[in-house]
Amino acid sequence: MPAMFVGHGNPMNAILDNSFTRTWRAMGSQLPRPSAILSVSAHWLTTNGTKVTAMEQPETIHDFGGFPAELYRQQYPAPGSGEFARKTQRVVHSTEVALDYDWGLDHGTWSVLKPMFPLADVPVYQLSIDYGKPPQFHYELGTQVRTLREQGVLIIGSGNIVHNLAAAKMGSKPFDWALEFDARVGSWLEEKNDAAILDFHNLGSLASAAHPTPDHFLPLLYVIGARDPHDSVEFFNMDIDMGSVSMRSMVYR
Ligand code: ZN
Repeated sequence: MPAMFVGHGNPMNAILDNSFTRTWRAMGSQLPRPSAILSVSAHWLTTNGTKVTAMEQPETIHDFGGFPAELYRQQYPAPGSGEFARKTQRVVHSTEVALDYDWGLDHGTWSVLKPMFPLADVPVYQLSIDYGKPPQFHYELGTQVRTLREQGVLIIGSGNIVHNLAAAKMGSKPFDWALEFDARVGSWLEEKNDAAILDFHNLGSLASAAHPTPDHFLPLLYVIGARDPHDSVEFFNMDIDMGSVSMRSMVYR
């Protein structure tokens, strides 16, 4: 099963018909049908260890503010998977992974999956991001969950390669620093230069402009960890939205 990183950007993408969501729909229709989808979303940050959702029917979480009522009405009623949550627990050996029955599907997950798998008939579960941990920790977790791909699990990291909401403005042209950071990471992804990606902070002010906080970058580390040496990379949605949010996404297969 492929592994993907999806730039989710504006939560409104869940209900908009635009170039990003049209690509998501096309992607969903050409992917093999997964046994389950494991999502690592920028919007589930934990500070007390790594968790995996294990409930049979996860709730759709509307974890955003100030959007139209229509967005709050959206539901993504995919089942969860206690079975794959426990399998995930077993394949991770670098840390304890606790079963979670409180979270659900946050918008980093459902805003992307709704266009991609509109029938919501594939089980979906989430792995949290232990936010205090260094980049290497997240990357190693990715390498350990890679084996789930052989069991039909589609691994999706949902974040953004550039994410600066303070600078974001509807219709704005891309900032130079956004284009530059996005291009650097894009080259590193093509070169499989994982070490440079893990050391993204070395870009100094460029990195802090692209990511005032690293939450939307960290899901990428799980996905590059889950890359198989034989995978090829295919980019899609290579645009900067609102001046400072890279929608660049990729699929490994
Ligand atoms: Zn987000």
